[in-house]
Amino acid sequence: MPRTAQTTALILSVTPYRDNDMMVRVFTAEGGSFSAIAYRSRASRSRFPSGLDAITLVDAAFSATTPARITLTSATVKELFWNAKTDFSRTCAASLVCELLMKTHAHGAETARLFVHALVLLGQLDREGDRAVSPEAAALAAGVVVARDLAFLPGKVQCGRCSQMNEGGWLLQVDTGELTCTQHGRASGAVRLSTAEASLLDRVLCEGDKFPESGPDPAACKALLDRLQPFLERLVDGPLRSLGALLSSAP
Ligand SMILES: [Zn+2]
Repeated sequence: MPRTAQTTALILSVTPYRDNDMMVRVFTAEGGSFSAIAYRSRASRSRFPSGLDAITLVDAAFSATTPARITLTSATVKELFWNAKTDFSRTCAASLVCELLMKTHAHGAETARLFVHALVLLGQLDREGDRAVSPEAAALAAGVVVARDLAFLPGKVQCGRCSQMNEGGWLLQVDTGELTCTQHGRASGAVRLSTAEASLLDRVLCEGDKFPESGPDPAACKALLDRLQPFLERLVDGPLRSLGALLSSAP
């Protein structure tokens, strides 16, 4: 990062720090995910008129004395995603978008792509009425699109070893993200997907962040998310708390 920068940033998390400061984790199209200190943000509202909150898009100014020490010098809210924070499931799905951005290691052109996809997904979660997207569909798209953008999942469901479409089911290797028909994969360390689940996964892989607009029923998305959880947690090298909370929420 140059010594000072003005950019749009998605606030991923906010943690109180010392008496008057906050430590924020942000994601930007240019710099990906990084931490910054917001001095006096708990004591004075002059540079942070709307305060600082997670899952919020801000116009931000940063300054860096060294690459390891970045200061958030001001932030003005552009988008609060208020509706995405109105119920537990939606908040879990929005938090999953942030958690994935925080825990995946994106570089170069990947960061701009992920930034755009994250804002589209949060925007879809934030819509009201019959254009609203189910939290399960948005969460499924978030996980699969991030894995695809980082080249852990292919752009389409197709056996990596043969071109046949298999009726018996599919294997997703949890460690590598390789997709195969049941005849060509290793059953150990794999998640077994039914043909219906593979076709839903294919739809998310191909349509990506446009997918939830006409998403299938939340139960199908939730069932597939449940299957993909070990793979996604392997991808970020630890538990995804927001995904666990979404999957365990009723019904
Ligand atoms: Zn095969």
